[in-house]
Amino acid sequence: MTTTGAEGNGLRLTAKVFADIEQRDRHEPEFRQAVHEVLESLEPALERHGEYLDGRVLERLCEPERQIIFRVPWTDDKGDIQVNRGFRVEFNSALGPYKGGLRFHPSVNLGIVKFLGFEQTLKNALTGLPIGGGKGGSDFDPKGRSDAEIMRFCQSFMTELHRHIGEYTDVPAGDIGVGRREIGYLFGQYKRITNRYESGVITGKGLNWGGSQVRVEATGYGTVYFVDEMLRVRGEGFGGKRVVISGSGNVAVYAAQKAAELGGTVVAMSDSAGYVVDESGIDLDLVREIKETRAGRIKEYADRTTRAHYVADGTIWDVACDIALPCATQNELDGRSAATLLRNGVIAVGEGANMPATPDAVKVFLDSGVAFGPGKAANAGGVATSGLEMQQNASRDSWHFDYTDKRLAEIMADIHAMCRETAAAYGAPGNYVLGANIAGFIKVADTMRDLGVI
Ligand code: NDP
Repeated sequence: MTTTGAEGNGLRLTAKVFADIEQRDRHEPEFRQAVHEVLESLEPALERHGEYLDGRVLERLCEPERQIIFRVPWTDDKGDIQVNRGFRVEFNSALGPYKGGLRFHPSVNLGIVKFLGFEQTLKNALTGLPIGGGKGGSDFDPKGRSDAEIMRFCQSFMTELHRHIGEYTDVPAGDIGVGRREIGYLFGQYKRITNRYESGVITGKGLNWGGSQVRVEATGYGTVYFVDEMLRVRGEGFGGKRVVISGSGNVAVYAAQKAAELGGTVVAMSDSAGYVVDESGIDLDLVREIKETRAGRIKEYADRTTRAHYVADGTIWDVACDIALPCATQNELDGRSAATLLRNGVIAVGEGANMPATPDAVKVFLDSGVAFGPGKAANAGGVATSGLEMQQNASRDSWHFDYTDKRLAEIMADIHAMCRETAAAYGAPGNYVLGANIAGFIKVADTMRDLGVI
């Protein structure tokens, strides 16, 4: 076995695999970070099951099946032509059609889409549903764009994307910058081009046109259900706890709603410009009015109520809390912030966003025994409910809110139990990072081995 500098990063059996990725994907730091975290925690499983080192399963798992990059030309309201870049990374279809969201944000590049697609593959395996992993998006910035511009952009994006997707092939959904409005324009253009009312081709749809109850709430609710499970095994709950939630988008808002319903007090929320603190508990109706109806900034919350104050500099993780839910974006919570949270008495952290905690931060939480729910487990409720939406579309049925919410809560409890049991079985009780990575990996790897070298 060749060993490299990667061995110093905690990799032994997987050092060669990672060294090759470091070389080939050196311009993709987020992808390398995600792969490294997974490989490191797979080591105990590979020691026990040497068969996974055969057949280049790891190398195949870390290489997307297909990567599509395309031009997205569109006309802005002034009549000028704009050109953006579109991506769809079809990462792994061992368990089912590629499944994962589309992100519209100026930071989007191939490495970010690959990291998200890789994580999605293992996350989707944890849901127990027959879905593979994929992710996509564009460097298009929706901020400040009119509704007509958003529609023209989505139509142009789908004009290329429609060749690559289908209910049995690849099923996109939303992510940062892509909500129900964008899904509507994307689905509308798909229907127009293909002349097919193929509801199962995209999820996150409106309730009148094939959407599922609870899909909008699912990622935020699911994150809180997962954290509640982690607390429960420690004899705790959300009741009476101070909760800090970063972001004020889809995931953050519904995580806040569920945390408050379970008895927590959400004292701070943020956006990319700053954060607000409201010691008496964030008024979610006000946040939603500002963010959802007028696409405003979180600062307006403090302008509109005397109870709150706004902080433009610094980090929301300086606000003392018992439970921290990072729900904004990747690498938003670093080692220093993790140490601050710890000093302030945090007992549980649940990643509503994908990879919001840096490796340093994760280490701080794991070393100190804080209950830490990694994104691929804690935020799997969104894609799980997308899977439920696909089931409803396939049977031309629609389920009630309470029934769908119950299914979501059961799936999150199952994911929690699987991660917990796997971590204990591999000698790391309480380490949900290791549990999630090994449980997801074994499912995908076993299936890849069954399907042959493809
Ligand atoms: P939204 O676009 O609805 O909201 C994103 C929020 O994060 C906004 O408040 C945004 O603020 C904030 N944000 C974005 N970038 C930064 C930054 N660099 N620093 C601080 N804040 C930032 O996205 P979602 O809520 O859908 O997604 C949030 C996270 O959850 C992402 O990591 C996504 O991948 C993950 N996720 C989402 C799922 C879903 O179903 N939607 C499913 C699973 C995971 P601003 O308005 O200023 O940009």
